[in-house]
Amino acid sequence: MTELRPIYTTKIICPICDKQIEVTKVRSKYVKLISQDEDFCPHYEGLNPIFYEAWICNFCGYAAHSTVFSEATYHDSKCVKEKITPRWTSRSFTGERDIQQALDAFKIVLYNLQVRGASSTEFAKVCLRIAWLYRYNGEWVDECRFLQFAYDYYQQAYTGEHLGGNKPDEYTLMFIIGELARRLGFMEDAVSWFGRIISASARPDERKKIQPRLLEQTRDLIALTRQDMKTKEAGL
Ligand SMILES: [Zn+2]
Repeated sequence: MTELRPIYTTKIICPICDKQIEVTKVRSKYVKLISQDEDFCPHYEGLNPIFYEAWICNFCGYAAHSTVFSEATYHDSKCVKEKITPRWTSRSFTGERDIQQALDAFKIVLYNLQVRGASSTEFAKVCLRIAWLYRYNGEWVDECRFLQFAYDYYQQAYTGEHLGGNKPDEYTLMFIIGELARRLGFMEDAVSWFGRIISASARPDERKKIQPRLLEQTRDLIALTRQDMKTKEAGL
């Protein structure tokens, strides 16, 4: 019996050019999560499925995060056909990806989002993943650059967009904004965002909407942030 390979390609239809394309996925039985950072960045033993989340059509240049790839609108289609396809050079994105290839694929997704004028939530999600890829590679300066983009886009998403659907719930969004503030060194902003979750949890109707684990992590991070602020004030 042939042993199943950890990665495999599957055929899908591009929602822009209607051609059949191949995308690479990781079999879930080979995905071994070993830890997760506070901003949800997962660390895996062996293959990392994040590397394969940027899907690209090699025919027309349309690219999106795997979870929303098939949801292209008429507006998206028009933008891709007018502004991306004419300049697109066909190349393959299937098969095993290393960090650099994953970064290249995500940068093509980011370019697509810019051309299509995508939502802040989509931008934030992609920028956060690019930051994680730089983190895996130990490239701190580039990681921070993309954490800052994600921070700005998540704040825009919080103030300007209706939540629900593929978007994070209100409290997860507050948590991630607080955590990104903490990582970027905006300690007071971090405490303020985390504090809003704690205040909301005092109201029984709101508390039901907050995942217990998220609340626990929020308390831990407030303590950690306050500790860091004290250390900084003391000049240690
Ligand atoms: Zn296409």
